[in-house]
Amino acid sequence: MNHKSVVFSFFVSIMFAAAAGCAPTPEQVTPTLPPIVQVTAESSPTVQPTATLAPTVTPLPTATATPAPTATPFITPPAAGQAIVAPILMYHHLKYLEPNASEALQTWTVAPDQFAAQLDYLQQKGFHTITFKQLVEFFDNGAPLPTNPILLTFDDGWIDGYTVAFPELTKRGMVGNFFVPTQYADAGGELFMNWDQIREMDRAGMEIDGHTIDHADLNKANLDVLRRQLRASKQQMEQELGHPVYALSYPFGAFNAGVVAETEAAGYRAAVILCCGYELNSDILLTLPRIRISYNDPLSEIEKKLP
Ligand SMILES: [Zn+2]
Repeated sequence: MNHKSVVFSFFVSIMFAAAAGCAPTPEQVTPTLPPIVQVTAESSPTVQPTATLAPTVTPLPTATATPAPTATPFITPPAAGQAIVAPILMYHHLKYLEPNASEALQTWTVAPDQFAAQLDYLQQKGFHTITFKQLVEFFDNGAPLPTNPILLTFDDGWIDGYTVAFPELTKRGMVGNFFVPTQYADAGGELFMNWDQIREMDRAGMEIDGHTIDHADLNKANLDVLRRQLRASKQQMEQELGHPVYALSYPFGAFNAGVVAETEAAGYRAAVILCCGYELNSDILLTLPRIRISYNDPLSEIEKKLP
C-alpha cells in the first residue's frame, strides 16, 4: 500500500466513524429549544416594524469580508434564549463517485454539478449565506443578519473545497465556512488544501475555521491532548491567517460537556455538531446542529430538509 492509499483508507475509516457518530447518542442530542420566534424582516432601516422583538435602534452592520448591501433586508436578534431559523448545511467531499462507491462515500460526498445546482436552488429560495463570525456577532452584539440566513460548511480541508466549492460560491457572491485540521493543511498536495490556497479563500471572504490539529476524537483525549488539539490548532491558524478564528467543528461530531467547556475556554465562540435541525439560539452556539447533504439527495429531498 503506498502512502496515498494509506491516507485514503484512513479517511474512509474516518468517514465510517463519522457516519456512526451521527447516531443520536446522549452527547449528541441537541438541547431542547424554546419556541421559535418569528423575527420580523425589515425592508429598510428607517421603517419601524409594528410588532417585533427588535430594539428600536438597530446597530449598523460591523465590517466583515462580505458586508450586506444597504438595501438588503435584515433581521435582528430575538429575545434572550429564543431561536431563529438558520440552517447550517454540512458538506465534506465534492467530487464524482464511481457507480459502485461505498455507502459511506456516498454519505459524505456531493457531485460538483449537484452542488452547483444546490447553490442555485438556495439563491432562488432567497437564502443568504453568512459566516460564523456574522452569526456570533448577531447573537453577542446585535449585529443584523440578512433575511433567510444559511451557513454552508465544508469539513476536513479536502482539495475540492478549493477547486470546486470556492469558485462556485465566488461566482454567485456566496460565502462558505471551511473546517480545516492544521496538520492536513501543512501536508497540502493532491488531497488537501494548502495554506496558500486557504489564505486566498480567506481573503476572498470565505471563513476558515478550526477542526483540531489532526482530526482527533476529542471525547477520547485526555485534558492535555484536548487543550493542545483545540489551542495549538487555533493559534497556528490565526498566525497563518492574521486574524481570529471563530468556530470549530468537533471531529466525528464527538463532544461532551468537558469538550464544550474546553472549546469555550480556548476562545472558540461557535462550534458545530453532526445532527440535526435548523433552529439556533444563543444557548447552543457551542453545539450548533447541522443538516447533512449526501450524494443522492435530489433537490426535492433537500427542500424537505430545509425550513
Ligand atoms: Zn471532519
